[in-house]
Amino acid sequence: MSIGRFAPSPTGPLHFGSLVAAVASYCDARQRGGQWLLRMEDVDTTRSIKGASDDILRTLTRYGFVWDGEVVYQSQRSVLYQQVLDQLRDKQMVYACTCSRKEIADSSILQGIEGAIYPGTCRAQAAQVNTPAAWRLKTRDAEIRFDDVIQGHQQHHLSTAVGDFVLKRADGVFSYQLAVVVDDALQGVTHVLRGADLLNSTTRQIHLQQLLGYATPVYAHIPLVINSDGQKLSKQTLAQALPADNIKATLIAALAFLQQPLPENMHLFSLNDIWQWAISHWQLPLNTQAKCAINGKMAT
Ligand code: GLU
Ligand code: ZN
Repeated sequence: MSIGRFAPSPTGPLHFGSLVAAVASYCDARQRGGQWLLRMEDVDTTRSIKGASDDILRTLTRYGFVWDGEVVYQSQRSVLYQQVLDQLRDKQMVYACTCSRKEIADSSILQGIEGAIYPGTCRAQAAQVNTPAAWRLKTRDAEIRFDDVIQGHQQHHLSTAVGDFVLKRADGVFSYQLAVVVDDALQGVTHVLRGADLLNSTTRQIHLQQLLGYATPVYAHIPLVINSDGQKLSKQTLAQALPADNIKATLIAALAFLQQPLPENMHLFSLNDIWQWAISHWQLPLNTQAKCAINGKMAT
């Protein structure tokens, strides 16, 4: 049984970029005859916006998505994440870190793929007691590789590209990396299709899967939708919420962005027929060189 998923963060309404990720994972899962799960990535409750989850579910329904089973909310799964963290602690694969942001900035000399690398100060010494501590994973001195269906071969030497990364923050919030690995494994996800902004996270996730004895899903990272200023569409760049009307045209625009073959008269199809066509004709990989900047306004 193949299982795909869509995992939006409820930090605002769905925008065209998130629709593209949802459409890709949906067509891929349905074409395999597999399940498609929905997971709200609200693990960082400090970033969640009230009402955003319900708004996302309403929008997905309006666009004709049908998900399998109950929606999973990460905010309700802290016990599971803590169990996995405890497991790693018992195996001495994690350590408590009480460094402040400033201490880290002052002491890191190496730059990794996502900024300064934590120099490992607390790895060698016991953390200060009575100070709230983050939990970091001891990264191994080894290469992590995988073949992405769209982006091709990827590899990182985790200790020099990323360093010992945080699994639980000092304020008690579990990290995206830990939560996504636990959830993908517990939900039996076999195929992950998501935005290319997460390509660099994947080697960290594979490393965690290996430490925990989890299977590694197939990964396909979709080219990012950028606005006319060349920025990724996101809540930060004020991407517009998906329109409530013009649903068919917006869905067709998402399929066109995904370089899918489309019949000329598709706008005359019913919503249901658009989905049927899209699912039966779904094909990967995509050309990552194609320049298909979508003006943030085009989809409205
Ligand atoms: N929650 C992430 C986002 O909205 C997606 C995470 C994932 O698909 O692994 O960008
Ligand atoms: Zn530290």
